[in-house]
Amino acid sequence: MTAKKVAIVTGAARGIGAAVAKRLASDGMAVAVLDLNAESCEGTVAAINEAGGKAIAVGADVSNEESVAAAVEKVVAELGGPTVLINNAGIIRDNMLFKMTVDDWDAVMGVHLRGAFLMSKACQKHMVDAGWGRIVNLSSTSALGNRGQANYSAAKAGMQGFTKTLAIELGKFGVTANAIAPGFIETEMTAATAARMGVEFEEFKKFSAAQIPVNRVGAPEDIAHTASFFASEGAGFVSGQVVYVAGGPKD
Ligand code: NAP
Repeated sequence: MTAKKVAIVTGAARGIGAAVAKRLASDGMAVAVLDLNAESCEGTVAAINEAGGKAIAVGADVSNEESVAAAVEKVVAELGGPTVLINNAGIIRDNMLFKMTVDDWDAVMGVHLRGAFLMSKACQKHMVDAGWGRIVNLSSTSALGNRGQANYSAAKAGMQGFTKTLAIELGKFGVTANAIAPGFIETEMTAATAARMGVEFEEFKKFSAAQIPVNRVGAPEDIAHTASFFASEGAGFVSGQVVYVAGGPKD
């Protein structure tokens, strides 16, 4: 039997990350379920193990260099060198520009951009050694601009430039890099947006679905399906792409 490929999914305790982790495990990968604290990852890990897959919980802050180094070392020791990386961890600190604090700006840049940079840098050498790798970065339709999200939209647009550059630099080592830009996906993140706007989540979903061509909001599994494609063996000639998974055209 050939060894399982090792994947790291950041922000995988819940939401989109949890769905991606479960999907990659069912695709046959050993999965490091990484989130701010290891205990919060236990639900995702248990679901994978109960379904016959292999997973470990890893507690780490992706915006912290030492924390990232320790996390990747743990994955190497317990599962092997990671050759699939899904940079999914994310936060929102929404506010109109005139009210946005420097901390709101830095926190969002720190998790999305610094986090993806640190994780990609720590993992790329295992991919280059293996002559094979897949990096998938979570962007957003907000990359195209979204009221109240100057920090988040800048970070998510940045993820697209970062992705294309990784594709250019790492391609000759058999490593692809692609980005997924989700539209409205039903998770705690969108529930928090509804709460901030003072709208019932069910109402918010109904209103959002009516603006989406396929007439529904997205589920974490919609993103997991796309991540599974990008991480697959057969997607080796697809690199530097951004796919909007938003129930309609967005670019
Ligand atoms: P979510 O439910 O809020 O989950 C995000 C996860 O990331 C949480 O488990 C969170 O942990 C973790 N996280 C936050 N900061 C971290 C850090 N510094 N280090 C490690 N983990 C950290 O969000 P989601 O909706 O699943 O979103 C996942 C990704 O998709 C994000 O990058 C988001 O920007 C993007 N996205 C989402 C949507 C959407 O509609 N939901 C649309 C477009 C793009 P804690 O719980 O401990 O904070």
